[in-house]
Amino acid sequence: MIRCNENYLKLQSFYLFSDIARRVAAFQNEHPEMDIIKLGIGDVTRALPPVCIEAFHKAIDEMAHDSTFKGYGPEQGYDFLREKIAKYDYNARGAEIYPDEVFISDGAKCDTGNFQELFADDIVIAVPDPVYPVYVDTNVMAGRTGTFEHGRYKGLVYLEGTKENGFVPPVPREHVDCIYLCYPNNPTGSVATKEQLRQWVEYAKSEKALILFDAAYAAFIRDDSIPQSIFEIEGAREVAAEFRSYSKTAGFTGTRCAYTVIPKNCMIYDRSGGAHSLHQLWNRRHTTKFNGVSYPVQRAAEAIYIGDGPRQVRSLIDYYMKNAAMIRDRLTQLGYDCTGGTNAPYIWFDAKMDSWEFFDLLLRKAGVVCTPGVGFGRCGEGYIRLSAFNDPQRVSLALDRIASVLGGRS
Ligand code: PLP
Repeated sequence: MIRCNENYLKLQSFYLFSDIARRVAAFQNEHPEMDIIKLGIGDVTRALPPVCIEAFHKAIDEMAHDSTFKGYGPEQGYDFLREKIAKYDYNARGAEIYPDEVFISDGAKCDTGNFQELFADDIVIAVPDPVYPVYVDTNVMAGRTGTFEHGRYKGLVYLEGTKENGFVPPVPREHVDCIYLCYPNNPTGSVATKEQLRQWVEYAKSEKALILFDAAYAAFIRDDSIPQSIFEIEGAREVAAEFRSYSKTAGFTGTRCAYTVIPKNCMIYDRSGGAHSLHQLWNRRHTTKFNGVSYPVQRAAEAIYIGDGPRQVRSLIDYYMKNAAMIRDRLTQLGYDCTGGTNAPYIWFDAKMDSWEFFDLLLRKAGVVCTPGVGFGRCGEGYIRLSAFNDPQRVSLALDRIASVLGGRS
């Protein structure tokens, strides 16, 4: 008898974005005339920067001739891209990272989800609440949790993000072995200061723990005093791995390219306390289960670092950040307490009612789709995430409609 992995049965069948899609489709069915504006799902709306398109075309042309054709590439990625990442994303900000510590992949979702394969079954995992759901669900699938009760899986340590701590939870009092951190945060848009990250590095060192730092939104940080990488913190090389993505940075959500950085001196331990290189273990996993990102895609990603690339990427992000500022200002005027939107493309606010109730109100009365905060964890109940990924006219229209619905409520 073929048997299932029963850990999958513990997963909550409700998946946030399909639930939203279902409610939106039902409403659109009832009101086909309604022009619905989506400020919910965090997908980008603008085309790839011209430098990427040009590099893409050039690389495709190379594939058309035997003399320049590329077959299987290095699983870890081509040196031309790994070198640019080390130089421009890390060394330029004072972080010591070497090209051979970078693993190119087809997405930060896969990397953050797959990484837990390297750990023992019985380690203690800490996850922020609220946060991007992939960290929790992949550990549930791997059997590192108990059942789901009262909005939480047994066996996980939840790091509570609240209004009081600015949605930047402090280090826990108890021991944990692995900590997922996500800054700028999805969904709250909060960022961590150097001092806050320094405390995490200290904690990880003293507990022999590992930090998994998801910096998928690093390119949205506008305040230069905020670290873009955990590796800007002294000592982090020994206790952290970092995930980044071109998805939001350069509009690669449909093109797929990301990377993971694992310093060579970061160790994890066997049951007798023997140290093993995390870099070597991930290299083994990556080369066994992954066959590299396509050559044209890596050339397109490389293009953001050279020539007019940095300027084009900056203007792409500025475009979304203007929307973020517009959303944040308008909601603040309406009397809502907002986080995010200044160093992140997400605005998180206290809805002053149940998350789904607010979602339905906005959909039915304003024809605007938002994301209920409770979908990101129990601490998200009563909060809403709005995303800046849309065009400014649509965002402005959505805000006018929101104001007319909520204007008299606050
Ligand atoms: N990490 C965070 C925090 C995200 O919000 C997302 C996408 O929404 C990802 C990772 C996934 O990135 P990718 O498109 O590279 O898989």
